[in-house]
Amino acid sequence: MICLGIESTAHTFGVGIVDGSGKVLANEKAIFTTESGGIRPYKAFEHHVLLAEFVLKSALQNSGVKLNDIDLIAFAQGPGLGLTLRSGAVMARTLSKLLKKPLIGVNHCIAHVEIGKQTSGFKDPITLYVSGANTQILAFAAGRYRVFGETLDTGVGNFLDNFGRLLGLGFPAGPKIDELAKLGKNYIPLNYTIKGMDFSFSGILTNAEKKIRDEREKNNWKISDAFLHDICYSVQETVFAILTEATERAIAHINKREILLTGGVAANTRLQVMLASMAKDRGVKFKVVPRELAGDNGAMIACAGILAHQAKVQTKDSAIVQNWRTDQVNAVWVK
Ligand code: AMP
Ligand code: MG
Repeated sequence: MICLGIESTAHTFGVGIVDGSGKVLANEKAIFTTESGGIRPYKAFEHHVLLAEFVLKSALQNSGVKLNDIDLIAFAQGPGLGLTLRSGAVMARTLSKLLKKPLIGVNHCIAHVEIGKQTSGFKDPITLYVSGANTQILAFAAGRYRVFGETLDTGVGNFLDNFGRLLGLGFPAGPKIDELAKLGKNYIPLNYTIKGMDFSFSGILTNAEKKIRDEREKNNWKISDAFLHDICYSVQETVFAILTEATERAIAHINKREILLTGGVAANTRLQVMLASMAKDRGVKFKVVPRELAGDNGAMIACAGILAHQAKVQTKDSAIVQNWRTDQVNAVWVK
């Protein structure tokens, strides 16, 4: 069994090729980036349409797989941006018709979880899923990945990118903030917003924006390097402490012994350290999805597509579902 998976929910157009044993044969992607602003959906759509064929060809070339060897086409059906989702759905439907192979629509958030489970070997983790648009604490219960906690506004990745935009860091800002924060020395107090296992970031963004404005007013409309480092450090300490606290509360209440970190922000070195330390204190296992599979990619879509297909899931309606929630999916493949 060889599955070709297509990812296009937001900034990334990805094509992954995965075999029945879960081995990733190719994982090619083109990521929409900017120098200073955020993602404009139409610009990202244009980017995807322009590069789709190139990404597909690269994946086929790198894997040595021929189009005719493919048994299954999987695509990210949602959640995501309407325009970019359509770019991947159109390619997936075309390939499925052309090759006369089944088409399977995958929930993007669940794909992040499944690739994490596959690479970690975890069977039944509590997952902290941290992406651009989504941030959820998930665990399997009664047939579905249930949401035990989540952001009440933006995903933590979007929060970091928006914060980075205030400092002119461009998109994606997360990796740059990760590096700048390592040079920070002084903690600048910021809001700390958590309610049970839910949390929110927009107040922290407004709060950080004010601190940046104060710094500019004080410093001749410039930002000193020391302040830049300190504010990145403080933002990371604050929001990652919130995520760690919410995950710890979930572990305390739900009877699971594994913590999985997945999604683009899983690449963050500080978040990994905080969660590892909490897991050690609690005596539970902790693993992080490999960096190359952390951000949006086609291999995770292929991997989740194979699992669903093997469990006889069929996609009858391939229309995109922009607001498809993780807990709306019957995860019949999970044992
Ligand atoms: P995804 O939507 O899952 O592809 O995740 C993309 C998000 O991950 C973007 O918001 C990035 O800024 C963020 N990201 C990537 N690497 C890092 C990092 N090292 N630290 C923090 N955020 C990151
Ligand atoms: Mg994602």
